[in-house]
Amino acid sequence: MQKPIYLDYHATTPVDPRVLSAMLPYFGPKFGNAASATHSFGWEAESAVESARKRVADLCGATPREIVFTSGATESDNLAVKGAVPPGKHLVTVSTEHKAVLDSASRLEETGCSAAVLAPRPDGLLDLDQLRDAIRPDTALVSVMFANNEIGVIQPIREIGAICREKRVLFHCDAVQAFGKVPVDVNADGIDLMSITAHKMYGPKGVGALYVRHGLRLPAQMDGGGHESGMRSGTLNVPGIVGFGEACAIAAAEMEEECQRLRGLRDRLLERIRAGLDGIHVHGSMERRLTGNLNLSFEGVDGDALLVALPDLAVSAGSACASHGTGGSHVLQAIGVAPELMQSATRFGLGRFTTLEEVDYAAGRVVEVVRKLRSERPV
Ligand code: PLP
Repeated sequence: MQKPIYLDYHATTPVDPRVLSAMLPYFGPKFGNAASATHSFGWEAESAVESARKRVADLCGATPREIVFTSGATESDNLAVKGAVPPGKHLVTVSTEHKAVLDSASRLEETGCSAAVLAPRPDGLLDLDQLRDAIRPDTALVSVMFANNEIGVIQPIREIGAICREKRVLFHCDAVQAFGKVPVDVNADGIDLMSITAHKMYGPKGVGALYVRHGLRLPAQMDGGGHESGMRSGTLNVPGIVGFGEACAIAAAEMEEECQRLRGLRDRLLERIRAGLDGIHVHGSMERRLTGNLNLSFEGVDGDALLVALPDLAVSAGSACASHGTGGSHVLQAIGVAPELMQSATRFGLGRFTTLEEVDYAAGRVVEVVRKLRSERPV
């Protein structure tokens, strides 16, 4: 069987060949430990890490010393949320956040902190008045993601940042799905802590970062050698960090054009599916959305049967990160999607290597299969 067409770019992205070639020497002759201060192997690794740190920082208007490398965004979210809320204090977050944030908030609640988990509007966006009202005198942190990993909606981050500044609370933003796809500026956006990861932006898996605004200090989650300004001990993943830096440099140069191209492809996919089928529901705002994202439900179609009938398309029924859990999507539930629609929700994630031919093929197959399933089991 031929490989399916990959339309799951929110789960992970293929490593860009340019990223791979930048990394390869660091698996070979340039194998030094970036913490080895006494010889050239270490210096070479350290210099590669520092130039990658600058590339990551440059993509979000940070300074290199504000970038703390981690193993990925799950770790960054844990470090930020658990580290920024002192014992007994309050945090505000949203029910459509990634589980790495929601579960960290629950863990804090177990230890005596309290959390307000806000419901978004039906279009997936946060109501800013609701946010304002939820912030209390003892609120230490607001955590709101930049772009959602299931429905792709882009939150009003700059406005949220301004509210947090005005109320003097820290703002953590999980920017995993937005970083490298849309402009992110930690200063203009008023972000104090920001989680990012390389594998959603054509870099390798197992490396990410937390942006920590200058002057803030988070307690380390792990004890050890005191790397990364004491906030994240552990020998640095030099090849991964080099790849992350290269992925950021490529994104800086190509993001705008790529974003436009994906908008064209995504809109074409939707138009073609709509032209062939009725009873289609789009989840989340189409106005404030990542250009590579589409999340659709098909009336009168069984979601499992749909995925089984489309082995040639690698699409997702929800987020890959949550797919080991039970029950439906917590995101679709939070925006009030009816259960009979939720079960057929399908996430299409388009990215750098998606072609026009693939989009046309995918649209044709979706129309064909949905029609067939509906004719077999008419509602
Ligand atoms: N946050 C969001 C919004 C994500 O989409 C993901 C991954 O799916 C993560 C966090 C976790 O990132 P990582 O895979 O680097 O741990």
